[in-house]
Amino acid sequence: MVQSLNHSVPAFDIKQQYTIIEAEVSAAVLEVLASGRYIGGPIVAGFEQQFAAYIGVTECVTCNSGTDALFLALKALNIGAGDEVITTPFTFIATAEVISAVGAKPVFVDIDETTFNLDVNQVAAAITRQTKAVIPVHLFGQPVDMAALMNVAKAHNLVVIEDCAQSTGANWVGQKVGSIGHIGCFSFYPTKNLGACGDGGAITTNDPEIAARLRFLKEHGQKNRYLCEEIGVNSRLDAMQAAILQIKLRYLDFWNNQRRQVAVRYHQYLNQIPGLIVPQELAGGMGVWNQYTIRVQDNKRDSIQSLLQQRGVNTMIYYPRPLDLQPVYENLGYKDGQLPVAQQASQEVLSLPMFPELSEEQQNHVIYSLKDCLA
Ligand SMILES: *Cc1c(COP(=O)(O)O)cnc(C)c1O
Repeated sequence: MVQSLNHSVPAFDIKQQYTIIEAEVSAAVLEVLASGRYIGGPIVAGFEQQFAAYIGVTECVTCNSGTDALFLALKALNIGAGDEVITTPFTFIATAEVISAVGAKPVFVDIDETTFNLDVNQVAAAITRQTKAVIPVHLFGQPVDMAALMNVAKAHNLVVIEDCAQSTGANWVGQKVGSIGHIGCFSFYPTKNLGACGDGGAITTNDPEIAARLRFLKEHGQKNRYLCEEIGVNSRLDAMQAAILQIKLRYLDFWNNQRRQVAVRYHQYLNQIPGLIVPQELAGGMGVWNQYTIRVQDNKRDSIQSLLQQRGVNTMIYYPRPLDLQPVYENLGYKDGQLPVAQQASQEVLSLPMFPELSEEQQNHVIYSLKDCLA
């Protein structure tokens, strides 16, 4: 392996992917521009069908973002004031924010040390008479043990809304995430595995009544034009993004596989280094590696990050502070140390450069720099 020192490795690079599909994307975008159908229409409907088929569900409703997908899902289920929703504290703020936005209360359950995902074994103890739903997050592209979670949910009559924002294409025992719970919520933010050239989101379900309600709520709560029956929102995926996503969906499995190859190689060279823990996949889970997140032990994470930076290796910290300890959730009364696994993770995690086009040379630079910095 040749060590290369003279270039910098970005944490992600979405421009490179665009250059690969530039001709196809340009043609599709020009076609939308010439069509005059910028909102709704056959291209959006076509993408919804293709995405539903890809995930393995009967219904897909597109919307403006992953955040809106989660918000609309809660609204469609009439979850609001007086209700509780269980979720993980180790996620992007959007997951909990929407629970608050509909007037319900987020209840945080600690995470599993190995996967960084909600610890399914702790969910039952957090259920009260107010609990209506659970939002598992398939963090970094790694699926939650959905068989175990669905068992808990069934026993307690809870709805499961999967936050699949980082995990498009991942599966649990062959079943794609977003098709296992009652509702799946996806983000097409540019850095996600299936990213648009702007904002976008989708909701998947096998329940036609929920899908109908979602379509109603995302168009201002109008059943018929100008007949308003409920307060809704305006949340649409526009035709240009749908056209781009139709193209990118055809490449998704290929790109996810390239991410997997990067992960395999990182694992091969970084496994069994003292002071460093590499991510592991659970048996049954097939992740899509939105992030490759290691743990740096012994309080060395921040210094390792700056040493890597000096060598041109850009890394990210997802997430530096768990949600239970965010100022905005002070009112929920969580104490320092109450959810210790998430708290410790927030101090140790470091996400290495990860994108499908990451070259072997770049991977080597990351691997050798990290070994160097730890030595
Ligand atoms: C990105 C993300 C979201 C929100 O998606 P947007 O499209 O940015 O609104 C929600 N949950 C998780 C876990 C995410 O990573």
